[in-house]
Amino acid sequence: GPDPLWLFADQLGPHIHSCDDHKDRQVLLIESTAALARRGGHRQKAHLVLSGMRHLAAELGDRAEFWQAEGYRDALVEFGRPVVVHEPSSRAASRFVHALHDEGLVSEILPNPTFALSRKDFETWAGEGENFRMENFYRDQRRRFDILMDGTSPAGGKWNYDAENRDSPPKRETLGVDPPWWPEEDDIDEEVRADLDALVDDRPDVRFTGVDGPRQFAVTGDEAQKALRTFLDHRLATFGRWEDAMMGGDWTMSHSLLSVPLNLSLLDPLDVVHAAESAARDGSVDMAAAEGFIRQIIGWREFIWHLYWHFGPGYMKKNELKAHTRLPDWFTDLDADAVTARCLSDVLAGVRDRGWVHHIPRLMILGSHALQRGYDPAELTEWFRANFVDGFDWVMPVNVIGMSQHADGGRMATKPYTSGGAYINTMSDYCGDCAYNPKVRVGENACPFTAGYWQFTHRHQNMLKANNRTARSVATMNRLKDLDELLEQERARDEF
Ligand code: SF4
Repeated sequence: GPDPLWLFADQLGPHIHSCDDHKDRQVLLIESTAALARRGGHRQKAHLVLSGMRHLAAELGDRAEFWQAEGYRDALVEFGRPVVVHEPSSRAASRFVHALHDEGLVSEILPNPTFALSRKDFETWAGEGENFRMENFYRDQRRRFDILMDGTSPAGGKWNYDAENRDSPPKRETLGVDPPWWPEEDDIDEEVRADLDALVDDRPDVRFTGVDGPRQFAVTGDEAQKALRTFLDHRLATFGRWEDAMMGGDWTMSHSLLSVPLNLSLLDPLDVVHAAESAARDGSVDMAAAEGFIRQIIGWREFIWHLYWHFGPGYMKKNELKAHTRLPDWFTDLDADAVTARCLSDVLAGVRDRGWVHHIPRLMILGSHALQRGYDPAELTEWFRANFVDGFDWVMPVNVIGMSQHADGGRMATKPYTSGGAYINTMSDYCGDCAYNPKVRVGENACPFTAGYWQFTHRHQNMLKANNRTARSVATMNRLKDLDELLEQERARDEF
């Protein structure tokens, strides 16, 4: 028969293993202890990855060979037949499979199957450009794949509904929308949990972050379809309006919780956007809600993936703002209880307890805090990769170095993203319960985000002055009568 197909842990969907080219192949799945030790990261991410692979092995029955081994190479040698693979999703893994190809253990390397746009087509689109803007990429994706288009015009007459998608949270404990689809754990999850407990006990080199907890994300093709359906039918309608809001008592709000199944390739991104488009076309959700969601999937997510490859390995070392502060212990230990700032403490607890918070806490709480305090961007990127359940190698570099920390000098974002407490107060319900006051910048109850914002503005005033999107903040800073006192206070602050 044809050569077997070796699938990596983030290539688990039916559109891969059961496509016409592969449906007659045997499938090889390898669980490597050395890889688990090397990658570490959040305990719940290790669980999701192992659970996904073992569920697929069970689903494929006789068609699958499921191996547990120390390393991949030894397993392949023992397996004894050359295998076909799809290009993996990181540079390190890609180098590795190309070496295996040279050694004859891999017979063929097919393109990566996880994204709508191929790497070759992206390179054609990117051309000789140095700087890239998501909005341009996204509009071309809409045209290319004919998503939300009426002929050559955007459906509804607008490319972008951001202005309608920025509401503050409602004044209640939770958003009050229907719940997301939740997985029910089974025997496989129980086995994974026991095996990970045993591994941590037996192998000092295997170390995870965060805490264990019930599985919160889809790990099979069937589960992913259910999660998608529940989102489209019950939650997409309210997604856009509150996508930027944060509520201390409601971590999911209207978010899709599809980043894990998408990044495990359990869903084909074009199927997902077609389904969201249908919901808008048949009138079950507003155009603004569907557009906001579709932008995340074929816009942002694909943009980040392609720039990870396009910018190359040197991008990880970018540090244009010369940020060299080491991550403090309470941050790397996810010690939420040691943090007084209510917003930061709650978000850090979410990372510890679930390995997931939505995009605004990532950008405007964690990222903004790090930017204000000058945390080292490479160290911060690794922190995000390790601690987020959807943080595979390709995800965080451009999100953190580019979007969040402006460490690339603006190759993909027009300005640094940070704010004072006023923004957090508008977009969340955190400040009411906080020991600090978002309006106060000096003294005992000074909000660390408000004071940190001015400290950041002061430190980078030359860069900010030269950018017409940020010049005004420098002018405002220069009118602050208590600036010296504020800077003094912030330099001395080591608790938050
Ligand atoms: Fe966060 Fe400042 Fe609001 Fe406290 S007052 S929750 S530190 S923004």
